[in-house]
Amino acid sequence: MKKAIILLLLFSVALCGCGGTVDYRSETFFCFGTSVKLIVVHPPARYDALKEEAEALLSQIENAVSLEAEDSDLSRYNALASSETTEISPITAQLMQKALEAYRLTGGAFNPAVYRLVDLWGFSTRIYGVNGFTPALPYDRVPADRFYPLPDEKYIRAFLALTDFTQAELSEENGRYYLKKNAPAVTVDGIEYEQQLDFGGIAKGYAADEIKKILDAYGVTEGYLNIGTSSILLLSGADGEPWNLTIRHPRKDGDYLGVKTENRSVSTSGDYQRYYEADRRYCHVINPFTGRPVQSDVVSASVFTDDGCFADALSTACMVLGSERAIELLDGLQCDYALVVNEQEMRLLTDLTDYTTLLSL
Ligand code: AMP
Ligand code: MG
Repeated sequence: MKKAIILLLLFSVALCGCGGTVDYRSETFFCFGTSVKLIVVHPPARYDALKEEAEALLSQIENAVSLEAEDSDLSRYNALASSETTEISPITAQLMQKALEAYRLTGGAFNPAVYRLVDLWGFSTRIYGVNGFTPALPYDRVPADRFYPLPDEKYIRAFLALTDFTQAELSEENGRYYLKKNAPAVTVDGIEYEQQLDFGGIAKGYAADEIKKILDAYGVTEGYLNIGTSSILLLSGADGEPWNLTIRHPRKDGDYLGVKTENRSVSTSGDYQRYYEADRRYCHVINPFTGRPVQSDVVSASVFTDDGCFADALSTACMVLGSERAIELLDGLQCDYALVVNEQEMRLLTDLTDYTTLLSL
């Protein structure tokens, strides 16, 4: 298996382009199992307070949706039996609403209720997390001699029945939020499995939106935030220069698409972030309709829009939808995009007019 850095932000171009005199502060936080980089150009007087608020917010979001922490809202939901309810934080409630909107917008291609399948195919936090992986469930598989055995059909069929996201019921009472698991359990070989949710496809975009609110409150208009290299919030560039964003070639290290842009969110999803090879490439995005890792013509999808949450969810959905349906959806929502598709050979499909460099696609 292989993890790759997918987006690099060459902020040095804009910052150095102004004679190296730009006043900026840079922070690196650790969140969502990855590093988060914040650049604030012309930092405000209360910069330290801003930094603390941003850090506190990231850890609140992580505590709400982490699948490694047993007491996070999502871990508690995932451990519920059918018909049980758990109280959740306002953050998780907001994420649920955003995720439900994205689920509807994408016709179910974006679907956080695929987590049992993510786990079955070997891409869950349980397997990838910092605690190390110990096979514990009947369907766990261990790679041997570079060959990764594929899951049994009976589990794929069973877990597909757990993917109705609308069966996770959000409610509010006296300002407190609750999540009820309406999905019935499925049974395989005498063992019951419950619906489980995963906000890995949207949480980084949500975090970018929330940090933007903090930056706005402190009057910051120039800077950027880079969450785990796949979700990026761009404010204005430094001193009138737009940011120079580079999107890596999905197969060739060192080749990239360069985009000069600012004042929007960008999210990239690709089949090269987490994957393994067996009879084909199996990546970490699951097609909720087949129960299998996606097999569309989209190799990498970058979505540019004002709303970081939707940029994140939509880029994941594009992988499921394939280029034709993805472009129809993105055009309808007035999002810009850069999709790398692999028909006979890699090809870039984009409506961006501001890209500057394109190497050997
Ligand atoms: P991203 O890297 O934003 O595309 O998100 C991928 C992550 O979202 C995966 O690692 C899974 O945890 C989760 N995921 C996989 N397939 C889907 C899907 N179809 N809809 C929503 N989340 C998904
Ligand atoms: Mg995503």
